Amino acid sequence: MGADRPQINSLLRQLPAMTHLMAEPRLQHVLEAIGHQPTKQLIQRAIDETRESLLKQPTSDEQCTPPELTQECVRRTLELYQTQQLSGLGQVINATGILLHTNLGRAPLAEAAIERMRQVAGYANVELDLASGRRSKRGHRICELLAELTGAEAAIVVNNCAAATMLALAATAQQREVIVSRGQLVEIGGGFRLPDVFRAAGVLLHEVGTTNRTYARDYENALSDATGGILRVHRSNFAQSGFVCEPDIAELVQLKVAPNIPIIDDVGSGCLYDLGSLGFDEPNVLVSVRAGADLVLFSGDKLFGGPQCGIIVGKQPWIEVLSQHPMMRAMRVDKATLAALEATTEIHLAGTADDKLPLYRALRASSKSLAGTGQTIVAKLPATQNLSARVVPSHAQVGGGTLPGTSLESQAIELRIPDAAVDAQNGIQEIARILRGGSPPVQGYIKENRLLLDLRSVLPAEVPMLTDRLVALFASKSLRGE
Ligand SMILES: *Cc1c(COP(=O)(O)O)cnc(C)c1O
Repeated sequence: MGADRPQINSLLRQLPAMTHLMAEPRLQHVLEAIGHQPTKQLIQRAIDETRESLLKQPTSDEQCTPPELTQECVRRTLELYQTQQLSGLGQVINATGILLHTNLGRAPLAEAAIERMRQVAGYANVELDLASGRRSKRGHRICELLAELTGAEAAIVVNNCAAATMLALAATAQQREVIVSRGQLVEIGGGFRLPDVFRAAGVLLHEVGTTNRTYARDYENALSDATGGILRVHRSNFAQSGFVCEPDIAELVQLKVAPNIPIIDDVGSGCLYDLGSLGFDEPNVLVSVRAGADLVLFSGDKLFGGPQCGIIVGKQPWIEVLSQHPMMRAMRVDKATLAALEATTEIHLAGTADDKLPLYRALRASSKSLAGTGQTIVAKLPATQNLSARVVPSHAQVGGGTLPGTSLESQAIELRIPDAAVDAQNGIQEIARILRGGSPPVQGYIKENRLLLDLRSVLPAEVPMLTDRLVALFASKSLRGE
């Protein structure tokens, strides 16, 4: 080993200099995109990594030449740059078949919502009444629209439904008991567990009933001077079946409770329609409001099809209590969210959700049309021995913690490495990695050594881009064994 040192040292001395690499033509686009200092940092890391790998590898008789060392540093710089770019926020083609994919930003926004966000991106009348020139309440119009849409007396908007739950509890039942069924003490995801939320909101949890059965009389028996509210939570992300029972919201509203005890209904997904024709049974916001719940809470970016936010609709005095609470100031949404929500609410009010909201277009697309899209794409792919593509039936899901156990018939492009190929399993992982790595990234899912690209969740406007990515993949030199 000692004898090899001089050889390595001479090799290390031949690593390209920073100034040399900064002038390297293959790195100029990086320099232009991210600037001098960040490029320098990437190059320095690439040089360091190259040096380390030289030190690690057993010295062989084959010496790297200076151009090879430069080539290696350039390659590593470009790789680091690509990894960095991928960690930034950007568009992803969703071929997972999960329409409300939390990792992919849940509901895709309507064109009108995107346009409205663009319009308010600079200065906008967020808290200015243009008619009088006076200060106005933030989101005043959107709250009116939400009340009109849901038939409620009033509405407010916070950052998400988790915030809505927290605010509703903290503002109405501080230091008092809120009654909840044992069957509804859910973990929503991301560690958001109802008992913890109670604690954080400074509210005491009074559990009633059992895991599978809770009756209206259980709530009645739990009422006392210490009661501060009754909360119903939709079990969105799992289903119970068999010997189960729980009162619906109408029954809870009929309980004889004092007027200072609100009935709070966390319906979660924000469904406004009867989706029975799709085989779905989600709690409906309008039904809860009509039944007389004091506060109804739901997400803006699930079945409402809008931006991330938590929408609270209900009786005027209770909404007033919430909006006066100091937590409200910490939970208020920004102008871009308000803009997208306003445009989305207008679409619901106009009765054009099926047509204008990408989520509803995806929900309603026929399997036949999805198969047609798939066939058109597959027909454009150049043939190769090393990867095959065909259109197969698949199952899509609504996702986003809604409608567990229900699926939608769908169609997917199935990519498969022929069995004869060595290492088909790692090969398909590599294909998935390539599709995730390019621009725009494509995210599908792997099942039994096949990569499935479900077409129900792919936005129609993105079909040409998906086609281009697949054509490039099938035409790539590595796949063609060239
Ligand atoms: C999804 C969900 C929440 C959380 O909503 P976010 O907007 O993601 O915070 C709360 N409650 C129920 C019942 C839900 O389904």
